[in-house]
Amino acid sequence: MKKLRLILGDQLNLQHPWFEEVDSGCTYIMAEMRQETDYVTHHVQKVVAFFASMRNFATALEEQGHEVIYLKINDEDNPQDLKKLIQQYTDQLRSDKFEYLLPDEYRLDKQLREITESLEIKSECFDTHHFLTKRDTLEKFFEGKKQLVMESFYRMMRKEYDIMMEDGEPEGGKWNYDQSNRKKWKGSPEIPSEYDTRKDISDLLAEIEKAGIETIGNIDAQAFNWPTSRKESLEVLNYFAENLLLHFGDYQDALHTEQKFLFHSRVSFALNSKMLSPKEVIDRVLEEFRRNEEEIDISQVEGFVRQILGWREFMRGIYWREMPDYQYTNALDNQNKLPDFYWTGNTKMNCLSHAINQSLDEAYAHHIQRLMITGNYALLTQTDPAEVDAWYLGVYIDAIEWVEITNTRGMSQFADGGLVATKPYVSSANYINKMGNYCSGCSYDHKKKTGENACPFNALYWNFLDAKKEVFKDNPRMGMMMSLLSKKGMKKWKK
Ligand code: FAD
Ligand code: SF4
Repeated sequence: MKKLRLILGDQLNLQHPWFEEVDSGCTYIMAEMRQETDYVTHHVQKVVAFFASMRNFATALEEQGHEVIYLKINDEDNPQDLKKLIQQYTDQLRSDKFEYLLPDEYRLDKQLREITESLEIKSECFDTHHFLTKRDTLEKFFEGKKQLVMESFYRMMRKEYDIMMEDGEPEGGKWNYDQSNRKKWKGSPEIPSEYDTRKDISDLLAEIEKAGIETIGNIDAQAFNWPTSRKESLEVLNYFAENLLLHFGDYQDALHTEQKFLFHSRVSFALNSKMLSPKEVIDRVLEEFRRNEEEIDISQVEGFVRQILGWREFMRGIYWREMPDYQYTNALDNQNKLPDFYWTGNTKMNCLSHAINQSLDEAYAHHIQRLMITGNYALLTQTDPAEVDAWYLGVYIDAIEWVEITNTRGMSQFADGGLVATKPYVSSANYINKMGNYCSGCSYDHKKKTGENACPFNALYWNFLDAKKEVFKDNPRMGMMMSLLSKKGMKKWKK
């Protein structure tokens, strides 16, 4: 039987059972397509990272003896569209069957279902063997429950996979060390520089430019520093485990002008493209912990495991439970335009300038920059979540809709009305000053609430609470802020 098997750009799992044996009747197809480069304006580093990783993956398959058709972006016979691609190659190869891997985006899932219905040959869909949950695990787990609490999902996952468990109890006696993960970084401990996988990608960049793909952001073509192969991805993971894990949890929420990456792992692109699996990332970190338990505190390790075993799988479950409606949610009815400076980095607000310019330079910002700087400002200024989504989906190297939209609309913008976040992640300048050093170099005064040079975050914070008080008045987690608001009275601000 002649089979055509499709591999999408975020399905680069060399460990997949498909590749265990070479099947002479099977041809794999991979394509760099305008359909994928143009559905949102991506960061140039994101396009480079995906194309380079796809090319390396195709080469690795060929080296194992598999038959691969690989279409580059400027190839003449590249139809640039998934439907045409599959029709063209199933015809050309006279395939008896079309096979594909379960896509992670609703858009592609729908398109592939429509394509297979239109094909005259048989088709079959296979699991990607990447995630630790099925699409509907979260939905089933919370069946009949009003609130989807991440913590209870995470505990179920710890038990299910027997991760950091001792006789049915959490190792160390606590499920969660979040309280100890909130330190400001003040120059020590020393932060090892990010792992060096720098390579020259000028030729690929020239191809992308020749194709006329519209992109945002900056790139150093001679020193591109994201992993684009399984080997490099494993190196980045090992480097994290050996050098950064030691302080990961402590400084997880820290912000710093000189330190873009702090103790963060930078494995999100390798994970989301599936060059690494979540289980192997967790296993590697636990292996390092076991080897070095005297030095590495359990709170550093648990903090990391929770992100991957908890949040990442939780977001995937929310996505499949809530799509397609989730992409239109706007519970706070926010309608404002995203400020132009999100695309240029040109603002006097030091925190936003750093977080945005770093995003444009590196295609990366860590979680608290995304949540409490850019996300916070967008929410306080009551920005249309569709505009916020388009920015996050474009700018980050790891932005794939299932994990971007749930973090953006859900965790950051409260657009789902509190499904992911039980309260809005908003703050005044006080939090930003507490967690980092942005304020000390800013044109604005973080302590001033009104008047010249007053930090905009302060007035915006109270204005937001006032504007949305009807939505939050009965939210138990907002009780303190709402009663402070009514004590203060907005008159003072409106003078
Ligand atoms: P680390 O801080 O080292 O964490 C390790 C890993 O944990 C990450 O690689 C990631 O796989 C996982 N993780 C941590 N937090 C989350 C989370 N909230 N949801 C899912 N996984 C998590 N992550 C993406 O992968 N893609 C996105 O498009 C994305 N968009 C985001 C948008 C907003 C508004 C916010 C607030 C967060 C977003 N995140 C997204 C989550 C998180 O910020 C990134 O996963 C993280 O910054 C990636 O850097 P890292 O690999 O150094 O992570
Ligand atoms: Fe940001 Fe305000 Fe601090 Fe400036 S003073 S860095 S605008 S929080």
